[in-house]
Amino acid sequence: MIKKVLIANRGEIALRIMRCCRDLDISTVAVYSTADRDLKHVRLADEAVCIGPAQSAQSYLNVPAIIAAAEVTNSDAIHPGYGFLSENADFAERVESSGFAFIGPTAKLIRTMGDKVAAIRAMQEVGVPCVPGSGGPLDDDDDTNLRIADDIGYPVLIKASGGGGGRGMRVVESADDLADSIRLTRAEAKAAFNNDVVYMEKFLGAPRHIEFQVLSDTHGNAIHLGERDCSMQRRHQKVVEEAPAPGITEEERARIGKLCVDACERLGYRGAGTFEFLYQDGEFYFIEMNTRVQVEHPVTEMVTGIDIIRQQISIASGEPLRYTQDDVVMRGHAFECRVNAEDPRTFMPSPGVIQQYHAPGGLGVRMETHIYNGYKVPPHYDSMIGKLIVHGNDRERAAARMRGALSEIHIDGIKTNIPLQLDIFDDPGFLGGGVDIHYLENSLLRTDQ
Ligand code: ADP
Repeated sequence: MIKKVLIANRGEIALRIMRCCRDLDISTVAVYSTADRDLKHVRLADEAVCIGPAQSAQSYLNVPAIIAAAEVTNSDAIHPGYGFLSENADFAERVESSGFAFIGPTAKLIRTMGDKVAAIRAMQEVGVPCVPGSGGPLDDDDDTNLRIADDIGYPVLIKASGGGGGRGMRVVESADDLADSIRLTRAEAKAAFNNDVVYMEKFLGAPRHIEFQVLSDTHGNAIHLGERDCSMQRRHQKVVEEAPAPGITEEERARIGKLCVDACERLGYRGAGTFEFLYQDGEFYFIEMNTRVQVEHPVTEMVTGIDIIRQQISIASGEPLRYTQDDVVMRGHAFECRVNAEDPRTFMPSPGVIQQYHAPGGLGVRMETHIYNGYKVPPHYDSMIGKLIVHGNDRERAAARMRGALSEIHIDGIKTNIPLQLDIFDDPGFLGGGVDIHYLENSLLRTDQ
């Protein structure tokens, strides 16, 4: 049994994990950088340990300092949250070899899924549909590569196997540019990710981003919690998420969900995970698996009533899943808006002191944030300062509830993207449902109209 959890993260997710541990009567240890002494969860946790200066590399990414903090506090387990070390296989290995439970999958699985070519191979083996492509690394033989691209059909996308965060990709429109593009992407991948393996995929012109949430225990049981639509993106960063995805049928949900569940069982997956797909013309194409809890997990919680963090902790304690697939019922509709400390037009980060904060509330309104009156948003980390999640009986009512909640929030002292979120929830195209991943940038964010 896990009795004490060290939370190796900061901000809203650290607070979310801490609250969940409290529900379960589990003690908590916060770790924080010198810039984060005033974080809400640091004040509320049972114990708190400073692990280094503001720079992430010396604090939230500082593996020896985090392991030492777990040792001195006698923690049983480490929850990595999202970002930082959450998908770092070497960290997961260190955690377990130091005698702590890692609240996440095994290091081996994190490593496989972190390598895109290996992940695609693993998915193909278990029958999950992938984007038509080379299916493996490209070599430097121009003729072979031209043949692969001809078979796939232009435009194609050259992707770095070690890429992440939307970097390490290049679209190729015609055969003339193929060889040069492969060489360029390879050189960039080597420089950015120290891994020059590249592969080729069909470039999908107007896909939606639809992802499936899974839970898998250590007793061979796995379930899926349905899907989320995260197509509202700017520069590959999600801005609004929702569950369920508009227009996805029960049949599609059951079919793709079952493939993800089968994949978990065959891979021996452990914990919570997300299978990300592009969806175009009625087809799903796997692009990658995230082996951690995601920022947008609350929309799934709101429609299923299942606490995903709680499931992560109980799976890490070795308990069997308490739910079967039949227990999972999606009710109503949920939206999440990411609240960022940034200029809503230029997207420049806007750190500083929050002079006043009024939280929204009411039935079906959930605000996940660590901010409070007088809190100083430090300039060193991601600009997301919270998430506003709403639930309604259907999509239309959930959207109305989101509009109300967004107009109720009041954050003074710094700029936030709430004006942009209000525009999104007034936009007929978005409200119609099912827009593609370019919609936000091509319509609402266009400055030339
Ligand atoms: P990362 O790990 O960098 O997030 P992904 O493989 O998840 O990389 O891709 C990031 C984004 O790039 C996707 O959400 C999508 O917008 C775009 N993308 C990836 N593969 C394709 C493809 N084959 N066709 C069109 N767009 C793609």
